[in-house]
Amino acid sequence: MRHVLAADIGGTQMRAAVVREDSAILARLSVPTAPADGFDAATERLALLFQQVAARAFAPDLSAIGISTAGPVDPTDGTYRHPPNLDGWHGRSMAPALSETLGMPVRVGHDATLAALAEARWGARSGARHLIYVTVSTGIGAGIIADGRPVLGASGGAGEVGHLIVAPGGARCAAGCPGCLEGNASGRAIALAARAAAEAGASTSLSATATAAEVFAAADAGDSVAGAIIGGAMGHLAAGIASLLAVFDPEAIILGGGVAEGLAPRWEALVEAVQERALPRYASGVPVELTALGEDVGLFGAAIWALREE
Ligand SMILES: [Zn+2]
Repeated sequence: MRHVLAADIGGTQMRAAVVREDSAILARLSVPTAPADGFDAATERLALLFQQVAARAFAPDLSAIGISTAGPVDPTDGTYRHPPNLDGWHGRSMAPALSETLGMPVRVGHDATLAALAEARWGARSGARHLIYVTVSTGIGAGIIADGRPVLGASGGAGEVGHLIVAPGGARCAAGCPGCLEGNASGRAIALAARAAAEAGASTSLSATATAAEVFAAADAGDSVAGAIIGGAMGHLAAGIASLLAVFDPEAIILGGGVAEGLAPRWEALVEAVQERALPRYASGVPVELTALGEDVGLFGAAIWALREE
């Protein structure tokens, strides 16, 4: 069986693994991304991490490297395009240096796109030809698989579902679009709503520095202001999901990320809220699910990207 090196690069951590073509992870390691230390230093750290993880796995036939990364990134050559969480990496690609150091082809893809591939290949919806993976975390993005292939767009920028307008006139995301999904349902949006409520003197246990996780915890403990913030975010998320169902007719929309995990105890209410906003063809149910691949979804997607035949 073939083995590949897979990496998942986020704003905080770089994770690397040796993955076998049947989805077994043979060894894994991680290091801080530390984007502020510079792009070349990060590339060298990742090359070393690959060498260490390969040595641990005793894998004889490593054939390629796959990298799943926070973006935006050009999937043809791995060049970053103004990545908001990898400051200073614009215009650079790790592929040439890694390929030269490790002697293998390197394929780079956007994390949400590769997560969607992982779900359609190795997840609960294995074999799906039409699937959307939505990551709901500090920001919101998606990977779209249509007719078995990732939808990349003309410049590799497809899948930015965080900027669907779901609340005209509502809060703005960091990019500035008024009333978009990310501005009204992301972890950042939840934290900003908590700050506004605390600063307005609302009767709540939330502080002006509350994180999204703390808002979820307060809502679970019965804080009605926190509950209303989560309820509002959930309604906007449901509107975005219903819109995606209408446009793409996917077999499933899979949700992952910290905010999606926080919604797990409220899953029935979320599904109901999607159903209320969905087309009549979804009268008997909406195919909306929480990921079962957990935090390995990025490594799996990177491995599948490296293993692809074309
Ligand atoms: Zn936006």
